[in-house]
Amino acid sequence: MPISLRTVVHRFPTPHPEADGTLRWDSTTAVAVTVVNGDHQGFGWTYSHAAAAEVIDTVLRRALDEADVSEPVRCWRAMVDACRNIGATGLVMQAISAVDVALWDLHAQTLGVSLPRLWGRERPAIPVYGSGGFVNEDADTLAANVGDWARSGCAGMKIKIGEAWGSEIGRDLDRARLLTELAPAGVDCMVDANGAYTRGQAVRVGRALDRLGITWFEEPVTSDDVDGLRGLRDRLDCDVTAGEYSWTVDDTERISAAVDCVQLDVTRCGGYTGWFRAAAVAKAHHLQVSAHCAPALHTPVAAATPNLRHIEYFVDHARLEPALADGVPRLADGVLVPNTGPGHGLTAVAQ
Ligand SMILES: [Mg+2]
Repeated sequence: MPISLRTVVHRFPTPHPEADGTLRWDSTTAVAVTVVNGDHQGFGWTYSHAAAAEVIDTVLRRALDEADVSEPVRCWRAMVDACRNIGATGLVMQAISAVDVALWDLHAQTLGVSLPRLWGRERPAIPVYGSGGFVNEDADTLAANVGDWARSGCAGMKIKIGEAWGSEIGRDLDRARLLTELAPAGVDCMVDANGAYTRGQAVRVGRALDRLGITWFEEPVTSDDVDGLRGLRDRLDCDVTAGEYSWTVDDTERISAAVDCVQLDVTRCGGYTGWFRAAAVAKAHHLQVSAHCAPALHTPVAAATPNLRHIEYFVDHARLEPALADGVPRLADGVLVPNTGPGHGLTAVAQ
């Protein structure tokens, strides 16, 4: 019997317009997919554009016509192969990622086991770091973010810098300094420039961040500038990190040669199937991986990944995921604990 695929596009407005160094937004779009096979349903989603639902409803649905859903890795291959001529990266890979997550959830439910148990659990709980601190927010909002993260026990806290494509470096460093002053002792203070700086700016900002004791400098230059990232990694004390735009294992291989920690995102890198392959590539470079955004979806796979550092508890996604899914793990004592029921334990919130 052929499986049935159902997509729903959700738009979640942010409380106010938000901005990082290179983008502004006022909403987040989640494309959710439910895969039904007999008595079982698998659920997944990606953060993307409504066009990802069109890819799922047309190309991916056809690719899975003859698929055996008890073999998610072969389903992944069928989807990637079917997308050759439209490019299995970007929005198309986001669509594949959502379906792959749903297929793994379905498979584990059919077997009656949780995903960490199916894959082999490495750890019972996963450390997270708080993430937000947008460049268009004031000091009081930053202080409120830090207070929330401290009360949740986060061992790391990350804010955005690189305001207006690197044209407000003084304010960037003031905000980074404020983070170090507000954060409790022992907390890792982290920043993300979202590729806003030129190489020269990034060196100068990075040296100032080193003096402040910042431990993580994410996307100091665009992730397309792999040589630039490598040069910064070799010159700065803080960890230089990137990887949120790794769609394929080849992308992960390129970025792994240039950073101190590889960021991966199951909603972009090909779902859980793509995640494990990419994490193995990072491991071959003796690097840890850090989960980018989507904390609920990352919790089960992070529990089963040997070289995992932490999960990003991104303020937008932390806010919206309970409206998207029931069973979202609650942050306490700085960790997320995977659900123990079958699959990932996340089900679509009734509309
Ligand atoms: Mg980032």
